[in-house]
Amino acid sequence: MISTILDTRFLEGDKEVFYCSRCVNSNQRPGLTFDENKVCDACEYADLKYTQIDWGKREQELKTLLDRFRSKDGSFDVIVPSSGGKDSCLVAHQLKYKYDMHPLAVTWAPSQYTKIGWKNLENFRNAGFDTILGFPNNHLYSKLARLGFELSGDPFWPWHYGQRAFPMSVAIKHKIPLVIYGERTSVEYGGGKEYWYKPVEELRDLQGHAISNATNLDKLVKEGINHGVLVSSDLSGIEQYHYPSVESLNSVGVEVHWFSYYHKWVPQENYYYAVKHCGFEPNSSRSEGTYSKYSSLDDKLDGLHFFLQYIKYGIGRCTSEASQEIRSGHITRDEAVSLVKQFDGEFPREHFAESLKFLDLSEDEFWLIIDKFRPPHLWDSLKGEWKLKTIVS
Ligand SMILES: [Zn+2]
Repeated sequence: MISTILDTRFLEGDKEVFYCSRCVNSNQRPGLTFDENKVCDACEYADLKYTQIDWGKREQELKTLLDRFRSKDGSFDVIVPSSGGKDSCLVAHQLKYKYDMHPLAVTWAPSQYTKIGWKNLENFRNAGFDTILGFPNNHLYSKLARLGFELSGDPFWPWHYGQRAFPMSVAIKHKIPLVIYGERTSVEYGGGKEYWYKPVEELRDLQGHAISNATNLDKLVKEGINHGVLVSSDLSGIEQYHYPSVESLNSVGVEVHWFSYYHKWVPQENYYYAVKHCGFEPNSSRSEGTYSKYSSLDDKLDGLHFFLQYIKYGIGRCTSEASQEIRSGHITRDEAVSLVKQFDGEFPREHFAESLKFLDLSEDEFWLIIDKFRPPHLWDSLKGEWKLKTIVS
Protein backbone atom coordinates (compact mmCIF):
# COMPACT_ATOMS: atom_id res chain seq x y z
CA MET A 1 0.00 0.00 0.00
CA ILE A 2 1.22 3.51 -0.82
CA SER A 3 1.44 5.53 2.39
CA THR A 4 1.50 8.97 0.69
CA ILE A 5 -1.65 11.09 1.00
CA LEU A 6 -2.12 13.80 -1.63
CA ASP A 7 -5.39 15.35 -0.47
CA THR A 8 -5.20 15.99 3.29
CA ARG A 9 -8.40 18.03 3.70
CA PHE A 10 -10.06 15.20 5.62
CA LEU A 11 -7.46 15.62 8.39
CA GLU A 12 -7.86 19.37 8.57
CA GLY A 13 -11.50 19.62 9.73
CA ASP A 14 -12.43 21.19 13.07
CA LYS A 15 -11.66 18.60 15.77
CA GLU A 16 -14.99 19.38 17.49
CA VAL A 17 -17.75 18.01 15.27
CA PHE A 18 -21.05 19.87 15.17
CA TYR A 19 -24.04 19.93 12.85
CA CYS A 20 -26.07 22.64 11.18
CA SER A 21 -29.07 23.59 13.29
CA ARG A 22 -31.36 23.47 10.23
CA CYS A 23 -30.04 20.68 7.99
CA VAL A 24 -27.85 17.66 8.83
CA ASN A 25 -24.60 18.97 7.28
CA SER A 26 -21.62 18.86 9.61
CA ASN A 27 -18.71 21.23 9.99
CA GLN A 28 -16.47 18.54 8.46
CA ARG A 29 -17.65 19.36 4.94
CA PRO A 30 -14.69 21.19 3.35
CA GLY A 31 -15.26 24.91 2.94
CA LEU A 32 -18.64 24.96 4.72
CA THR A 33 -19.13 28.01 6.96
CA PHE A 34 -21.64 28.68 9.75
CA ASP A 35 -23.28 31.79 11.17
CA GLU A 36 -23.57 32.56 14.88
CA ASN A 37 -26.69 30.35 15.13
CA LYS A 38 -24.85 27.38 13.62
CA VAL A 39 -26.76 27.69 10.35
CA CYS A 40 -24.60 26.48 7.44
CA ASP A 41 -24.06 28.59 4.31
CA ALA A 42 -26.10 26.15 2.17
CA CYS A 43 -29.11 26.85 4.42
CA GLU A 44 -28.38 30.59 4.36
CA TYR A 45 -28.36 30.44 0.57
CA ALA A 46 -31.65 28.49 0.62
CA ASP A 47 -33.23 31.49 2.40
CA LEU A 48 -32.15 33.70 -0.48
CA LYS A 49 -33.26 31.16 -3.05
CA TYR A 50 -36.75 30.61 -1.67
CA THR A 51 -37.59 34.06 -0.34
CA GLN A 52 -35.46 36.80 -1.82
CA ILE A 53 -34.08 36.15 -5.28
CA ASP A 54 -36.26 37.57 -8.05
CA TRP A 55 -36.34 34.58 -10.40
CA GLY A 56 -38.23 36.51 -13.06
CA LYS A 57 -35.36 38.98 -13.22
CA ARG A 58 -32.84 36.16 -13.34
CA GLU A 59 -34.71 34.63 -16.28
CA GLN A 60 -34.45 37.95 -18.11
CA GLU A 61 -30.68 37.85 -17.51
CA LEU A 62 -30.62 34.34 -18.99
CA LYS A 63 -32.56 35.47 -22.07
CA THR A 64 -30.13 38.36 -22.59
CA LEU A 65 -27.22 35.94 -22.32
CA LEU A 66 -28.74 33.43 -24.75
CA ASP A 67 -29.61 36.18 -27.28
CA ARG A 68 -25.88 36.93 -27.48
CA PHE A 69 -25.03 33.37 -28.48
CA ARG A 70 -28.07 31.91 -30.32
CA SER A 71 -27.13 30.65 -33.79
CA LYS A 72 -29.18 31.74 -36.80
CA ASP A 73 -28.52 28.68 -38.95
CA GLY A 74 -29.42 26.01 -36.40
CA SER A 75 -25.82 25.05 -35.66
CA PHE A 76 -24.87 24.16 -32.09
CA ASP A 77 -24.63 27.26 -29.93
CA VAL A 78 -24.35 25.99 -26.37
CA ILE A 79 -22.57 23.07 -24.71
CA VAL A 80 -24.31 21.29 -21.86
CA PRO A 81 -21.94 19.05 -19.91
CA SER A 82 -24.22 16.12 -19.30
CA SER A 83 -24.48 12.61 -17.94
CA GLY A 84 -28.00 11.98 -19.23
CA GLY A 85 -29.08 12.34 -15.59
CA LYS A 86 -32.05 14.35 -14.36
CA ASP A 87 -30.20 17.65 -13.98
CA SER A 88 -28.60 17.83 -17.40
CA CYS A 89 -31.94 16.73 -18.92
CA LEU A 90 -33.58 19.78 -17.37
CA VAL A 91 -30.88 22.18 -18.58
CA ALA A 92 -30.65 20.83 -22.12
CA HIS A 93 -34.41 20.51 -22.52
CA GLN A 94 -35.16 24.03 -21.28
CA LEU A 95 -32.42 25.52 -23.45
CA LYS A 96 -33.70 23.76 -26.54
CA TYR A 97 -37.47 23.89 -26.14
CA LYS A 98 -38.08 26.90 -23.90
CA TYR A 99 -35.31 29.22 -25.07
CA ASP A 100 -34.86 28.14 -28.68
CA MET A 101 -31.17 27.25 -28.37
CA HIS A 102 -29.29 24.42 -30.13
CA PRO A 103 -27.52 22.51 -27.37
CA LEU A 104 -24.78 19.97 -27.84
CA ALA A 105 -24.53 17.68 -24.82
CA VAL A 106 -21.02 16.55 -23.89
CA THR A 107 -20.57 13.54 -21.68
CA TRP A 108 -17.41 12.28 -20.03
CA ALA A 109 -18.15 8.60 -19.54
CA PRO A 110 -18.25 7.09 -16.07
CA SER A 111 -15.68 4.43 -15.18
CA GLN A 112 -18.22 1.69 -15.85
CA TYR A 113 -21.79 2.44 -16.91
CA THR A 114 -24.61 0.96 -14.86
CA LYS A 115 -27.54 -0.43 -16.85
CA ILE A 116 -29.80 2.39 -15.71
CA GLY A 117 -27.14 5.02 -16.49
CA TRP A 118 -26.73 3.75 -20.04
CA LYS A 119 -30.50 3.48 -20.49
CA ASN A 120 -30.97 7.09 -19.41
CA LEU A 121 -28.33 8.27 -21.85
CA GLU A 122 -30.33 6.49 -24.57
CA ASN A 123 -33.55 8.07 -23.26
CA PHE A 124 -31.85 11.46 -23.47
CA ARG A 125 -30.87 10.89 -27.11
CA ASN A 126 -34.40 9.72 -27.83
CA ALA A 127 -35.70 13.00 -26.38
CA GLY A 128 -33.86 14.87 -29.13
CA PHE A 129 -30.38 15.62 -27.85
CA ASP A 130 -27.10 15.25 -29.71
CA THR A 131 -24.33 14.01 -27.49
CA ILE A 132 -20.59 13.76 -27.83
CA LEU A 133 -19.47 10.96 -25.57
CA GLY A 134 -15.86 10.94 -24.36
CA PHE A 135 -14.95 7.32 -23.77
CA PRO A 136 -11.43 7.34 -22.31
CA ASN A 137 -9.40 4.16 -22.46
CA ASN A 138 -10.01 2.05 -19.36
CA HIS A 139 -6.41 0.99 -19.07
CA LEU A 140 -5.38 4.48 -17.97
CA TYR A 141 -8.77 5.35 -16.40
CA SER A 142 -8.67 2.36 -14.04
CA LYS A 143 -5.07 3.06 -12.98
CA LEU A 144 -5.87 6.73 -12.31
CA ALA A 145 -8.97 5.64 -10.36
CA ARG A 146 -6.87 3.28 -8.27
CA LEU A 147 -4.28 6.00 -7.62
CA GLY A 148 -7.04 8.49 -6.77
CA PHE A 149 -8.40 5.96 -4.30
CA GLU A 150 -5.02 5.11 -2.76
CA LEU A 151 -3.57 8.62 -2.66
CA SER A 152 -6.60 10.85 -2.15
CA GLY A 153 -9.33 8.51 -0.94
CA ASP A 154 -11.40 9.06 -4.05
CA PRO A 155 -11.73 6.54 -6.90
CA PHE A 156 -13.74 9.21 -8.77
CA TRP A 157 -10.60 11.24 -9.20
CA PRO A 158 -10.13 10.78 -12.98
CA TRP A 159 -13.83 11.33 -13.56
CA HIS A 160 -13.77 14.68 -11.72
CA TYR A 161 -10.88 15.91 -13.84
CA GLY A 162 -12.07 14.46 -17.13
CA GLN A 163 -15.61 15.80 -16.79
CA ARG A 164 -14.26 19.25 -16.06
CA ALA A 165 -11.72 19.27 -18.90
CA PHE A 166 -13.48 17.38 -21.69
CA PRO A 167 -16.46 19.72 -22.34
CA MET A 168 -14.02 22.64 -22.54
CA SER A 169 -11.90 20.83 -25.12
CA VAL A 170 -15.04 20.18 -27.16
CA ALA A 171 -16.03 23.87 -26.85
CA ILE A 172 -12.67 24.89 -28.28
CA LYS A 173 -12.57 22.26 -30.99
CA HIS A 174 -16.10 22.97 -32.22
CA LYS A 175 -15.83 26.72 -31.58
CA ILE A 176 -18.92 26.82 -29.36
CA PRO A 177 -18.14 29.52 -26.81
CA LEU A 178 -21.11 29.16 -24.44
CA VAL A 179 -20.96 26.34 -21.85
CA ILE A 180 -23.80 25.98 -19.32
CA TYR A 181 -23.45 23.62 -16.37
CA GLY A 182 -26.33 22.68 -14.05
CA GLU A 183 -25.89 23.66 -10.43
CA ARG A 184 -22.92 25.28 -8.80
CA THR A 185 -22.54 22.64 -6.11
CA SER A 186 -20.63 24.78 -3.63
CA VAL A 187 -23.47 27.33 -3.66
CA GLU A 188 -26.34 24.83 -3.54
CA TYR A 189 -24.77 22.35 -1.11
CA GLY A 190 -22.38 24.58 0.82
CA GLY A 191 -18.89 26.00 0.91
CA GLY A 192 -19.17 28.55 -1.90
CA LYS A 193 -20.52 31.75 -0.38
CA GLU A 194 -18.29 33.89 -2.61
CA TYR A 195 -20.18 32.52 -5.65
CA TRP A 196 -23.73 33.29 -4.47
CA TYR A 197 -24.22 36.12 -6.94
CA LYS A 198 -21.92 34.98 -9.73
CA PRO A 199 -23.43 33.39 -12.83
CA VAL A 200 -20.18 32.96 -14.70
CA GLU A 201 -16.74 31.46 -14.05
CA GLU A 202 -14.21 34.25 -13.80
CA LEU A 203 -10.84 34.13 -15.48
CA ARG A 204 -9.11 33.38 -12.17
CA ASP A 205 -11.45 30.39 -11.63
CA LEU A 206 -10.66 29.01 -15.08
CA GLN A 207 -6.97 29.53 -14.44
CA GLY A 208 -7.40 27.79 -11.09
CA HIS A 209 -8.95 24.73 -12.78
CA ALA A 210 -6.13 24.56 -15.32
CA ILE A 211 -3.46 24.82 -12.63
CA SER A 212 -5.05 22.45 -10.13
CA ASN A 213 -5.76 19.79 -12.79
CA ALA A 214 -2.18 19.97 -14.02
CA THR A 215 -0.58 20.04 -10.56
CA ASN A 216 -2.68 17.19 -9.20
CA LEU A 217 -2.23 15.10 -12.32
CA ASP A 218 1.53 15.57 -12.17
CA LYS A 219 1.65 14.53 -8.52
CA LEU A 220 -0.55 11.51 -9.11
CA VAL A 221 1.39 10.34 -12.15
CA LYS A 222 4.71 10.82 -10.34
CA GLU A 223 3.55 8.71 -7.39
CA GLY A 224 2.05 6.14 -9.77
CA ILE A 225 5.35 5.77 -11.62
CA ASN A 226 7.40 5.69 -8.38
CA HIS A 227 5.28 2.83 -7.06
CA GLY A 228 5.13 0.89 -10.31
CA VAL A 229 1.36 1.35 -10.81
CA LEU A 230 1.99 3.36 -14.00
CA VAL A 231 4.62 3.04 -16.69
CA SER A 232 5.21 5.75 -19.27
CA SER A 233 3.41 3.80 -22.04
CA ASP A 234 0.22 3.94 -19.91
CA LEU A 235 0.08 7.70 -20.31
CA SER A 236 -1.30 7.83 -23.82
CA GLY A 237 -4.51 9.86 -23.50
CA ILE A 238 -3.53 11.68 -20.30
CA GLU A 239 -4.00 15.04 -22.05
CA GLN A 240 -7.77 14.51 -21.94
CA TYR A 241 -7.63 15.03 -18.17
CA HIS A 242 -5.85 18.38 -18.51
CA TYR A 243 -8.02 21.49 -18.40
CA PRO A 244 -7.34 23.61 -21.51
CA SER A 245 -5.19 26.69 -21.03
CA VAL A 246 -6.89 30.04 -20.50
CA GLU A 247 -5.27 31.24 -23.74
CA SER A 248 -6.96 28.48 -25.75
CA LEU A 249 -10.32 29.13 -24.02
CA ASN A 250 -9.96 32.85 -24.76
CA SER A 251 -9.15 32.15 -28.39
CA VAL A 252 -12.77 30.94 -28.78
CA GLY A 253 -14.19 33.37 -26.18
CA VAL A 254 -15.46 30.55 -23.95
CA GLU A 255 -17.87 31.60 -21.20
CA VAL A 256 -18.85 29.10 -18.51
CA HIS A 257 -22.21 29.76 -16.82
CA TRP A 258 -24.33 28.00 -14.18
CA PHE A 259 -28.00 27.31 -14.86
CA SER A 260 -28.70 27.30 -11.10
CA TYR A 261 -27.96 31.04 -11.04
CA TYR A 262 -30.75 31.70 -13.56
CA HIS A 263 -33.30 29.06 -12.54
CA LYS A 264 -34.44 28.04 -9.05
CA TRP A 265 -32.66 24.72 -8.59
CA VAL A 266 -34.75 22.04 -6.84
CA PRO A 267 -33.38 18.50 -7.49
CA GLN A 268 -36.72 16.75 -6.89
CA GLU A 269 -38.45 19.08 -9.37
CA ASN A 270 -35.64 18.46 -11.86
CA TYR A 271 -36.38 14.76 -11.50
CA TYR A 272 -40.09 15.17 -12.26
CA TYR A 273 -39.22 17.41 -15.19
CA ALA A 274 -36.72 14.89 -16.60
CA VAL A 275 -39.24 12.03 -16.30
CA LYS A 276 -41.91 14.06 -18.06
CA HIS A 277 -39.81 15.54 -20.86
CA CYS A 278 -36.80 13.25 -21.40
CA GLY A 279 -38.13 9.81 -20.48
CA PHE A 280 -35.72 9.71 -17.55
CA GLU A 281 -36.08 6.55 -15.45
CA PRO A 282 -35.24 6.14 -11.75
CA ASN A 283 -33.56 3.00 -10.50
CA SER A 284 -35.74 0.05 -9.51
CA SER A 285 -34.47 0.17 -5.93
CA ARG A 286 -32.98 2.84 -3.66
CA SER A 287 -29.27 3.64 -4.01
CA GLU A 288 -27.06 2.06 -1.36
CA GLY A 289 -26.19 4.54 1.39
CA THR A 290 -29.35 6.57 0.96
CA TYR A 291 -33.12 6.43 0.39
CA SER A 292 -33.45 7.98 -3.08
CA LYS A 293 -33.68 6.30 -6.48
CA TYR A 294 -32.90 9.07 -8.91
CA SER A 295 -29.54 10.75 -8.19
CA SER A 296 -26.03 9.79 -9.38
CA LEU A 297 -27.01 6.49 -10.96
CA ASP A 298 -24.72 6.08 -13.93
CA ASP A 299 -21.36 4.91 -12.55
CA LYS A 300 -20.71 1.59 -10.81
CA LEU A 301 -18.20 3.48 -8.65
CA ASP A 302 -20.82 6.02 -7.42
CA GLY A 303 -21.52 4.12 -4.21
CA LEU A 304 -17.84 3.81 -3.37
CA HIS A 305 -17.26 7.51 -4.00
CA PHE A 306 -19.97 8.41 -1.48
CA PHE A 307 -18.76 5.76 0.98
CA LEU A 308 -15.30 7.40 0.94
CA GLN A 309 -16.90 10.77 1.79
CA TYR A 310 -18.40 9.03 4.80
CA ILE A 311 -15.03 7.59 5.84
CA LYS A 312 -13.12 10.86 5.35
CA TYR A 313 -15.66 13.38 6.62
CA GLY A 314 -18.32 11.36 8.44
CA ILE A 315 -20.80 12.62 5.84
CA GLY A 316 -22.41 9.95 3.67
CA ARG A 317 -24.67 10.03 0.67
CA CYS A 318 -27.82 10.19 2.81
CA THR A 319 -26.54 13.22 4.77
CA SER A 320 -26.09 15.19 1.56
CA GLU A 321 -29.45 14.21 0.08
CA ALA A 322 -31.42 14.67 3.29
CA SER A 323 -29.83 18.10 3.90
CA GLN A 324 -30.81 19.22 0.44
CA GLU A 325 -34.38 17.92 0.91
CA ILE A 326 -34.76 19.78 4.22
CA ARG A 327 -33.78 23.00 2.44
CA SER A 328 -36.25 22.26 -0.36
CA GLY A 329 -39.00 21.77 2.25
CA HIS A 330 -39.61 18.11 1.35
CA ILE A 331 -38.67 16.60 4.74
CA THR A 332 -38.21 17.84 8.31
CA ARG A 333 -34.90 17.82 10.18
CA ASP A 334 -36.21 15.04 12.47
CA GLU A 335 -37.07 12.89 9.48
CA ALA A 336 -33.62 13.59 8.02
CA VAL A 337 -31.90 12.55 11.26
CA SER A 338 -33.74 9.18 11.21
CA LEU A 339 -32.88 8.65 7.54
CA VAL A 340 -29.20 9.44 8.18
CA LYS A 341 -29.13 7.00 11.10
CA GLN A 342 -30.73 4.35 8.94
CA PHE A 343 -28.76 4.69 5.69
CA ASP A 344 -25.62 6.82 5.96
CA GLY A 345 -22.44 4.80 5.55
CA GLU A 346 -24.20 1.67 4.30
CA PHE A 347 -21.55 -0.23 2.38
CA PRO A 348 -22.07 -0.30 -1.42
CA ARG A 349 -22.14 -4.07 -2.02
CA GLU A 350 -23.88 -4.14 -5.39
CA HIS A 351 -20.88 -3.36 -7.59
CA PHE A 352 -18.14 -4.08 -5.05
CA ALA A 353 -16.63 -7.14 -6.78
CA GLU A 354 -16.54 -5.35 -10.15
CA SER A 355 -15.06 -2.25 -8.53
CA LEU A 356 -12.24 -4.28 -6.95
CA LYS A 357 -11.52 -5.80 -10.33
CA PHE A 358 -11.56 -2.38 -12.00
CA LEU A 359 -9.19 -0.95 -9.37
CA ASP A 360 -7.02 -4.10 -9.50
CA LEU A 361 -7.11 -4.52 -5.71
CA SER A 362 -7.75 -7.46 -3.40
CA GLU A 363 -10.37 -7.05 -0.69
CA ASP A 364 -7.66 -6.96 2.00
CA GLU A 365 -5.80 -4.19 0.18
CA PHE A 366 -9.08 -2.33 -0.22
CA TRP A 367 -9.81 -2.27 3.54
CA LEU A 368 -6.25 -1.25 4.41
CA ILE A 369 -6.63 1.75 2.11
CA ILE A 370 -10.05 2.60 3.58
CA ASP A 371 -8.61 2.63 7.11
CA LYS A 372 -5.85 5.00 6.00
CA PHE A 373 -8.54 7.64 5.38
CA ARG A 374 -10.31 7.49 8.76
CA PRO A 375 -9.38 10.70 10.61
CA PRO A 376 -8.67 9.91 14.29
CA HIS A 377 -10.92 12.76 15.46
CA LEU A 378 -13.91 11.13 13.72
CA TRP A 379 -13.42 7.39 14.23
CA ASP A 380 -13.02 4.97 17.15
CA SER A 381 -12.17 1.34 16.83
CA LEU A 382 -14.09 -0.69 19.41
CA LYS A 383 -13.23 -4.40 19.53
CA GLY A 384 -12.14 -4.29 15.90
CA GLU A 385 -15.29 -2.46 14.78
CA TRP A 386 -15.12 1.12 13.51
CA LYS A 387 -17.66 3.59 14.89
CA LEU A 388 -18.10 7.31 14.29
CA LYS A 389 -17.47 9.20 17.52
CA THR A 390 -20.21 11.74 16.80
CA ILE A 391 -23.45 11.26 14.92
CA VAL A 392 -26.17 13.73 14.09
CA SER A 393 -29.06 14.10 16.54
ZN1 LIG B 1 -27.54 23.64 6.91
